[in-house]
Amino acid sequence: MYLSLESVGVRYAGGRADHPAVDAVSLGLAAGQIGVLIGPSGCGKTTLLRAVAGLEPLSSGRIRMDGQVLGDAESGVQVLPENRRIGMVFQDYALFPHLSVADNVAFGVQDLPRPERSARVQQMLDLVGLSHAAKRAPHQLSGGQQQRIALARALAPQPRLLLLDEPFSNLDVDLRERLAHEVRGILNDTGTTALFVTHDQLEAFALGDVIGVMQRGRLEQWDDAYALYHRPATRFVAQFIGHGVFTPAHIDRAAAADLGGCVQTALGALEDLQECPLPEAYPGGDCDVLLRADDIVHDDASPVKARIERKAFRGSEFLYTLRLASGEQVLAHVPSHHDHQVGEWIGIRAEVDHVVTFAREST
Ligand code: ADP
Ligand code: MG
Repeated sequence: MYLSLESVGVRYAGGRADHPAVDAVSLGLAAGQIGVLIGPSGCGKTTLLRAVAGLEPLSSGRIRMDGQVLGDAESGVQVLPENRRIGMVFQDYALFPHLSVADNVAFGVQDLPRPERSARVQQMLDLVGLSHAAKRAPHQLSGGQQQRIALARALAPQPRLLLLDEPFSNLDVDLRERLAHEVRGILNDTGTTALFVTHDQLEAFALGDVIGVMQRGRLEQWDDAYALYHRPATRFVAQFIGHGVFTPAHIDRAAAADLGGCVQTALGALEDLQECPLPEAYPGGDCDVLLRADDIVHDDASPVKARIERKAFRGSEFLYTLRLASGEQVLAHVPSHHDHQVGEWIGIRAEVDHVVTFAREST
């Protein structure tokens, strides 16, 4: 791995003793990969980036990059931030208001001989599509353009790693999505290894080769988007990513043969031939199963009926909140040409590719 974090912990002076800001986080990024950290506010994302940048000392664990130890709590190694060659982009673009766009980009490459410096600035401005704005002042640019300049400035010194902390969160939604794709293209073109922080799932999916979900200082899963969505490692990840609910289920191997499914739910038997959990995995075979809105199909012919409690228009589809006669709630994505009313009973069927079960949790 190009970047590796091994059981990294960070504690703030005066922070809670039982609950470090970052707690035993391990992850790896290959060269040129983009990693994304996502999680609720206060879960430790910024602290983790700051630790990688060398701005916070490690209270435990080790960080290595390209074969070099950057920080090691045990041996006390702590490479200074300015010697790590790590670039950073923050939420507030933090451009120097009194410098031109070109001089902002040149800021980190003052040591280069003048011709090389101009060439590098030109190259970076071309990269972010803003060569025409070289002589302008930052305030003459839009928010999205300013953020692209901040990116150009961070990339100019050719950092070994780029850290981006919610770089788009001050921008409006449309622009954010476009910029996320653009930035991904720019990072790929330059072969830059990057670690991103966002609280926006779509952005995480648009950007990340690997995505990590954090909660209370811990990294609950570090995986590609597909695995995160279809094979969430914890209940928290399952709930945080995508729309879904947990519904009580029973695993019964004897019944499995008869009923053609391994997991019995209020929606009938679910089948996952590849990785059906064993009944012994849970006391009495009782567990909760994750049902995502994509797993529930509207089917008039289905004997299972559910009443529409809520519906939210999402363009090509509705997100329905449904209640079964047995009391369980489920969510369903339904194509928007099926416009049923709240209160109506509709037929539904579960079509689950991956049966994801967790230990039953008393509610
Ligand atoms: P996130 O970026 O995910 O919102 P942070 O890394 O900013 O989370 O914060 C993680 C935890 O550390 C929070 O509980 C926060 O209150 C605490 N924290 C952050 N910065 C400091 C600091 N400078 N001193 C003490 N506690 C801090
Ligand atoms: Mg933060």
